[in-house]
Amino acid sequence: MKKTFSDPIFQELIDSIQEERIKGNYEKVKERAMLLEKEAIKMGNKHSEALAYYFYAVCELFYNKPMETIQYCLKGKEICIKEEYYHLYVRICMTEGTAYISLNERASAIERLLDGYYLSLKHSLLDVHAQVLNNIGSVFFDLGRYEIALDYYLKSYKIEQEVNDTPRMGQLILYLNIVNTYIRQKEFEEAIAWENKYLSNEEERKIPLVKYSMLGNYILMKYKTDTEEAMEEKVNEFLEYIQSTNLDSYFMNIVFEIIECCFDIKNFKLAKKIINIVELSMNDFKGYEYKERLLHTKTRLWEYLGEEEALYSDLLEYKEVVHKGRVVKNENECIGILSKIQLKEIEQERMQIELKNEELRQQSQLDSFTGVLNKVAFEEKVKHRLENNIEGLEHDVLIIIDIDNFKTINDVYGHAVGDIVIKKFAQLLKEYVRDIDFIGRIGGDEFAVLMTEVYSKQSAVNWGDFFMKALNNLQLEGLEHVDITVSMGAVVVENETDYASIFEKADKAMYVAKAKGKNAYEVYEED
Ligand code: GH3
Ligand code: MG
Repeated sequence: MKKTFSDPIFQELIDSIQEERIKGNYEKVKERAMLLEKEAIKMGNKHSEALAYYFYAVCELFYNKPMETIQYCLKGKEICIKEEYYHLYVRICMTEGTAYISLNERASAIERLLDGYYLSLKHSLLDVHAQVLNNIGSVFFDLGRYEIALDYYLKSYKIEQEVNDTPRMGQLILYLNIVNTYIRQKEFEEAIAWENKYLSNEEERKIPLVKYSMLGNYILMKYKTDTEEAMEEKVNEFLEYIQSTNLDSYFMNIVFEIIECCFDIKNFKLAKKIINIVELSMNDFKGYEYKERLLHTKTRLWEYLGEEEALYSDLLEYKEVVHKGRVVKNENECIGILSKIQLKEIEQERMQIELKNEELRQQSQLDSFTGVLNKVAFEEKVKHRLENNIEGLEHDVLIIIDIDNFKTINDVYGHAVGDIVIKKFAQLLKEYVRDIDFIGRIGGDEFAVLMTEVYSKQSAVNWGDFFMKALNNLQLEGLEHVDITVSMGAVVVENETDYASIFEKADKAMYVAKAKGKNAYEVYEED
């Protein structure tokens, strides 16, 4: 299985934290994150230090402390940006975004998620990219815009299938989201098909998140057809779970929908019981959205039950909450978020066009056959360097290399074999020069190398000998008994800036090598 976070020193500790996290033991997660932080700081391991802040943030989020979550996220992000840990940065963005969602600040949430979205695309971190899309889907799910949510979930699913290295927990959450969305859209057949296909593993069905999501979904799908006792039994099991855990917005939404189902089948007793439990958790939620939703639900319950006194007092409170909270209409918020996403997408497109242009520009400089610079580009680059070279202790050396008797290779073995020889030769040349040097294909079997920052003439000579030996050892299939040799001519560039003149000197040296009987290396001398 692919590890979400790998670290050569603290792997065991990190794995154990991840394990506890999946099991939902956040006390243990926090405890071990403290150990990780301490050890990481002691050893100066920045990645694990940032990772510890990420785990803290995840815990605070679980305990419904979004402000604390955001603070840890900021600490982690600061390290990640400095040290270029983009993968972890994107993960932290997701946690931070989720914290903003629980503060009911969806616009800020989307800001953070898009930040992660953008970075994951730029650095081709497709696994986290898929997860960011999943998170963006959840924002729309939260707004009740299920068709948009599904769109993002399915995009995420598609990428996830392509890269196929998302951790299983991440996959499960995505599948649950897709199933949930189909259920909200009343496409039960689709929902059940996904559930059967992706959530059928017995062991995984025991994970609380999976188990109770599915139970909630089951209630939502079957409340009309199940018997009253069966329904109550399922709801009670569900309530037991939400009482034992910290009710987050994910389960809170399911709970409200179950209350609607109770209203629908006129089981007000059960509805009242659920409302009481929700009321107990209300203090954990910042913002007014759930308070508004709860009061709205309660006033409807009092209406159904004809309890006028309670209705009157809750209506007053309801009015106040709506006024104080200025609960934003979902529709406006949704449009705002969509336009933000579109803006980012345009920016992203522009960036990709730029990258493509740069790629094309580079391609046009290359000899398509061998991948080294073509004649024109080589000349341009060397000229540019000659013009801008600052005088120093080092010199540049221009070397011209021509394959010996290449015509014979063509004639004896055919043009196709000749082609292979040229390609292999260019390949070898690439392996034997440094990144700071230039290679160009000057003609059919003729290449040029500009070695930069060479400290002495001797090192240029040494390189030539070294390369010729390597060529000697080059084994080409079907050409084992053919010796491929070259003639090379070099010139050490000293206070000279005229390309043509330098080239001519190297060329002359190369012809001297040919004249000496080939398979030779000559360095140009003034006399
Ligand atoms: P010398 O040792 O003096 O360099 O002799 P040579 O046989 O190598 O002669 P020369 O360098 O003059 O000729 C190079 C030949 O390479 C001419 C041309 O037909 C052939 N050639 C040029 N480009 C290609 C190519 O891309 N593929 C193949 N197979 N042959 C090429
Ligand atoms: Mg030749």
